[in-house]
Amino acid sequence: MGEKLPIRTLLESMRLEAYVEEKLAEVKVCALCGRLGYRKLPMRRIGARYICAECLAQLKDAIENYDAWLEEVKEEEEARKSLEKRLEELTR
Ligand SMILES: [Zn+2]
Repeated sequence: MGEKLPIRTLLESMRLEAYVEEKLAEVKVCALCGRLGYRKLPMRRIGARYICAECLAQLKDAIENYDAWLEEVKEEEEARKSLEKRLEELTR
């Protein structure tokens, strides 16, 4: 034994390091939710980032319902304004 074991251990750890590096290159992080997309969670590249399938579905839904959402936001804003106006009249 003597010096054989450390060299073997070194080689094995180098091999392990190369393996881990290779696997890490395959791992992608979703830019929106931060989850790792390793095989089970498909990732789509958008620009320089990756977005997971679940976030993409939410994004698609948000884009498709954008007009309705905008209406909702406007209605809420108007409701808030009229409430403020009423409160102002009451405290006058
Ligand atoms: Zn995601």
